[in-house]
Amino acid sequence: MYRLTPYYRQLSQPAGDSTVRQQYDLDRHDERLRSLKRVCAWLALFYFTYTLVDIYLLPEAAWRSIVLRFGLVGPPTLLLFAYFKRPVSIRRKELAAVCQGCLGTLVWCMILISANTPDVLNYYYAGLVFILVLTIVATPPFEQSLYGTLFVFATLYITIWFLPEVTLHYILLHLSVGIPILVLSLMANYRFSAESLRLYLEKNSVDALRQELAKRNTELERISYIDPLTGLANRRVLARHADELHKKIEPNQIITIIIADVDHFKAFNDYYGHAEGDSCLRAVAKAISAACDKEDVVCRFGGEEFLVLRSEHSPQMDSAIDTAENIRQAVADLAIPHQAAQEGKVTLSIGVCTGPLDPGVGLNSLINAADVALYAAKREGRNRVRYGNPSDAALALLAPQSPVTPTI
Ligand code: GH3
Ligand code: MG
Ligand code: MG
Repeated sequence: MYRLTPYYRQLSQPAGDSTVRQQYDLDRHDERLRSLKRVCAWLALFYFTYTLVDIYLLPEAAWRSIVLRFGLVGPPTLLLFAYFKRPVSIRRKELAAVCQGCLGTLVWCMILISANTPDVLNYYYAGLVFILVLTIVATPPFEQSLYGTLFVFATLYITIWFLPEVTLHYILLHLSVGIPILVLSLMANYRFSAESLRLYLEKNSVDALRQELAKRNTELERISYIDPLTGLANRRVLARHADELHKKIEPNQIITIIIADVDHFKAFNDYYGHAEGDSCLRAVAKAISAACDKEDVVCRFGGEEFLVLRSEHSPQMDSAIDTAENIRQAVADLAIPHQAAQEGKVTLSIGVCTGPLDPGVGLNSLINAADVALYAAKREGRNRVRYGNPSDAALALLAPQSPVTPTI
């Protein structure tokens, strides 16, 4: 009947390849073994020290106590501690400890029935301690506790009949203490077992949730740095790089900024529709990426604007312009039809700027210079690359007609 309780239902539920019970035993092995060893060491100390109590209270059974306690219970106790070192499940070790408790009870009862003094009747109440040991002191799993205490209970109330001068009245009195102790301590053991399992399962589900959360956070972080349309990095990545560059500006560090803008893209959208515009942007993004180095940061800077950030240690204006020209050519080679453009296909205007990173202004002056150059490329007829001087950018920042570049 007790198997129908939630505790047992949970124990037999599957957990991976095994059951919750097996997983629980495996995961808690070390912790439970540590506590089992400690409790058994204390109980053994008590049990063997109580030989002195036997000698004092039951002098005529003194020798029998010494022989039985040390001869019959001593060796299995040593074996029990050796068994704790074996690579077997914690449940078996706990069961071995419960059996040892049952043996201890049996031996204790044998000592008491051999004593021929009325004091034995009072001393016999101490037998109920064995029930407490197997329920709330050693706290073995509930079913072991149940079988162990039923054995102890049966042993106590069978041997009670062989005590000297025992009466039915005495047995009933003893039972009136023994039964509540049995029931209540078993209930306590049950609650303890169920509560430990509940905490274990709760901790497992919290751990699983935490792992899931960490996984999703990583995914979210990844998504938050990617432009969903083109799959390129977005402006956040540029801001992060700008931050990093700013924090540790290296000597002679030269930064190149390339800004590419699709020509007459509004007209493209108007003519071919927004969906076609999207796929055009995707193709353009792919071509730009392919034309850049692996170390370059390529990001979608605005609607139909792309930015390339390259950090190097030697001024390579030529290489920056070459890259920009490659980008322009790569997109022109796509030959995406564009009725409203003079070339009849999708083209890019590009502004480039190369220079040292200014600690006070950061990337902004370079971006502005590239933007000014882009503006010039547009003005001069589009589908071309123009180089911007970083020193011109400062002027451009002040000029009201210059294109406004958002702060990075
Ligand atoms: P210019 O040659 O001077 O750059 O002219 P333009 O038409 O390309 O520039 P303008 O700034 O007037 O228009 C940019 C257009 O880009 C307007 C907007 O509808 C379009 N656009 C921006 N983002 C997206 C997008 O994600 N998808 C699509 N399909 N169109 C976009
Ligand atoms: Mg634009
Ligand atoms: Mg444009």
